[in-house]
Amino acid sequence: MLGMVIDQASLSEIERLVLQHAGQAREHAYVPYSKFQVGAAVLAEDGQIYGGCNIENAAYGSTNCAERSALYHAVSRGMKPGTFRMLAVIGETERPITPCGACRQVIAELCPPEMPVILANLQGQVMRTTVSALLPGAFTSQALESGNRDEDHEPSSKDRMRSEGETL
Ligand SMILES: [Zn+2]
Repeated sequence: MLGMVIDQASLSEIERLVLQHAGQAREHAYVPYSKFQVGAAVLAEDGQIYGGCNIENAAYGSTNCAERSALYHAVSRGMKPGTFRMLAVIGETERPITPCGACRQVIAELCPPEMPVILANLQGQVMRTTVSALLPGAFTSQALESGNRDEDHEPSSKDRMRSEGETL
């Protein structure tokens, strides 16, 4: 369980505003295959809100979810990863919608771990959670940094292959 289901009426003004943008973005969803519209919106440090919708593709794997669309939208407009303040997602689900695994990974990459995430459905049900609650034990850039810091380790076969590759 990510959190308790609450009523949309109990949201703060800013939470309601970000969710409203997510709902507007949802209207633009391109979903000829699933017919399942999802909207998301991210609140940037400067108070601007960037929306995104899901965009499907006949090659299903090329589909992009609303959460990733919203975050990529914000980053493309110059918003710095790690500075976002809130994310909201809305879809027509029985309980408040939850992000897929790929989106959780992208959210963990671009948003602070303690950042609030508002999940909602069209019936006015809402769940409040956080980035770290959505993806506990996330693989992040810290793991890469600790790997690079370890200068004294015996080179693994992968490292050897890599350095041999570089000399070619
Ligand atoms: Zn997703």
